Amino acid sequence: MEKGDVASRIAALTKELNDHNYKYYVLAQPSISDFDFDQKLAELAALEKAHPELLDPDSPTQKVGGDITKQFKTVRHKWPMLSLSNTYNEKELKDFDERIRKVLGDDFEYVCELKFDGLSISLTYEQGALTKGVTRGDGTQGDEVTTNIKTIKSVPNRLKSGTYPDLFEIRGEVFMHRAAFERLNKERVENGDIPYANPRNFAAGTIKLQDSSEVAKRPLDCFLYFLYMDDRDRLFKTHWDSLQAVKSWGFHVCEHTTLCSTLPEVLAFISYWENARHKLSYDIDGIVIKVNNYAQQHELGFTAKSPRWAISYKYKAEEAETILQSVSYQVGRTGAVTPVANLQPVQLSGTTVKRATLHNANEIARLDLHELDTVLVEKGGEIIPKIVGVNKDKRVPEPVQIAYPTECPVCNTPLIRKEGEAVHYCPNELGCPPQIVGKIQHFISRKAMDIAGMGNETVEVLYKKGLLTQVGDLYHLHRHQSELEQIERFGERSIQNMLQGIEKSKEQPFQKVLFGLGIRYVGETIAKKLANSFKNIDNLIQASTEDIAAVEEIGERIAQSVKEYLSNPLHLQQISVLKNEQLQFAIVEEELQLTSSKLADKSFVISGVFEHYSREELSKLIVENGGKLLSGISAKLNYLVAGDKMGPSKLAKAQKLNIAIISEDELIKMIQ
Ligand code: AMP
Ligand code: ZN
Repeated sequence: MEKGDVASRIAALTKELNDHNYKYYVLAQPSISDFDFDQKLAELAALEKAHPELLDPDSPTQKVGGDITKQFKTVRHKWPMLSLSNTYNEKELKDFDERIRKVLGDDFEYVCELKFDGLSISLTYEQGALTKGVTRGDGTQGDEVTTNIKTIKSVPNRLKSGTYPDLFEIRGEVFMHRAAFERLNKERVENGDIPYANPRNFAAGTIKLQDSSEVAKRPLDCFLYFLYMDDRDRLFKTHWDSLQAVKSWGFHVCEHTTLCSTLPEVLAFISYWENARHKLSYDIDGIVIKVNNYAQQHELGFTAKSPRWAISYKYKAEEAETILQSVSYQVGRTGAVTPVANLQPVQLSGTTVKRATLHNANEIARLDLHELDTVLVEKGGEIIPKIVGVNKDKRVPEPVQIAYPTECPVCNTPLIRKEGEAVHYCPNELGCPPQIVGKIQHFISRKAMDIAGMGNETVEVLYKKGLLTQVGDLYHLHRHQSELEQIERFGERSIQNMLQGIEKSKEQPFQKVLFGLGIRYVGETIAKKLANSFKNIDNLIQASTEDIAAVEEIGERIAQSVKEYLSNPLHLQQISVLKNEQLQFAIVEEELQLTSSKLADKSFVISGVFEHYSREELSKLIVENGGKLLSGISAKLNYLVAGDKMGPSKLAKAQKLNIAIISEDELIKMIQ
């Protein structure tokens, strides 16, 4: 390669890998496999080594990877959280073993551990109490997420009495079990949210949530695998001993961790888990091999990025070839059309695979899919297998290209594609059966109107009989008693139960009704935020996109979706039908006990993180003293109560409008 070419290759790789790092660590939505990433990183490292003068200080080879999100307090790690070097085959592992033997001779042992596919976390315990939980971040400093960590059931907030040291740090991996992932991801899809690609991303996304009560709802687990403290090596001679002790203090240490004294034993461990891993309830992506003895670990030392006494062996994502039999198109309740590949059944990672996701039209075009193509299916960390390539050598003669439909496969309405979006939609909201049925099913679901005595099949049957075509019809069903009685297997008892359930749903609070409407991107949490901020549906209908986006944690995308939904006359008409039926379209505010009227006629917005009070506590104080809370910054606003880490755009806006910016202490002074 010419020098100029090398320079541009380095620049291209640097940019690409930095983008992938951002997607992986910040967005938690990776778009490249770990294997491909590591290959590219290795290529970059080799080029940099041959041309050290071209090394860019921002190169992804110069850091462990990762970025720190802004909302959390940044904490420096006392001991850097290093990465592990990776191996992908026996040869590379043998090289590692030889390097070690050169330094240590033959008298040493390895500890073999599963490489849990989650996110690493560092926990600090003082006098037996969990005082700090920090993410890896860039390896030098990470985000402090202690409150979120405290919601994890297998992480003790307080240790059992025993012989634990006064101060220590323990590291491990936070992850989500596959079953919980599948259940929660299904809910996300039903709420119109983008599903997470795999349990690891779900766990990473969860740990970075601002709302710990939401974290608590998502079952996370944590295995611990490293102990750090000042005089650790006097207390324990080996890593293995420390793990035994840690277990007795109440930590979750994986029961499959094994001592091995020779390389063949290590290889046997690796090959055993290559298959057995599919029977675990969680994902692992490899094996970690650590030299057991601490003194020997010191002898081996570290490179800039990783210890020389440990290495990971990564399993390749499993792939299999099979034949694409057809592509079908599913229409969801929001009208989004998802292509699904129907495959000739094939064995992969211990399960029979018959279908694979294709995401959208771009994906089909990217793969250049043709009918009866022989495709390569991969099941990596993802639950639903995906097609990663086509074996063009096996293409049938005169292949027919897969053409994305231009019309809805169910109702034949021409599909639309919104600008900047990859997904096609069927716009026939009122006439497209899967949309109609799906919307009603969502509305009656447990987290929305929670209509007992009515299930998804009932909705389908009633839709087919013409008794249900939109959610408002539910509340007229009682007028159709005789028609209901004629439905097969629908006894008097079940009809009564259903009608009672429907009547009772009128008591469901505003936030549930709002969630039940099925507005795109408005899940349970967002619905609650909207209900609390706007108090009633009329305020929400009148709010501008900016007003909506001014609510904490509601972004532009959600705000636009809400505004669009509530600007549609069809939806407004449906809402008015429901309103006439006495559904709750306003929050019920508790009788307020005013402690003073010192803040009367003054309006406030609270933003950021505070030292002494939570945002909820500050809001309560303001309201109890007669003040008014506004949802966004406008010229009407009197005070912005600013904490740490508030958004720079909010601050700038407040400054521009000359709004008084006060601290929590100043607020407290106003009411004393
Ligand atoms: P990598 O991200 O590929 O550099 O691998 C290093 C990461 O593997 C660590 O930061 C941990 O998050 C993770 N890991 C998973 N299981 C283990 C384990 N048993 N021991 C050490 N690290 C582990
Ligand atoms: Zn349709």
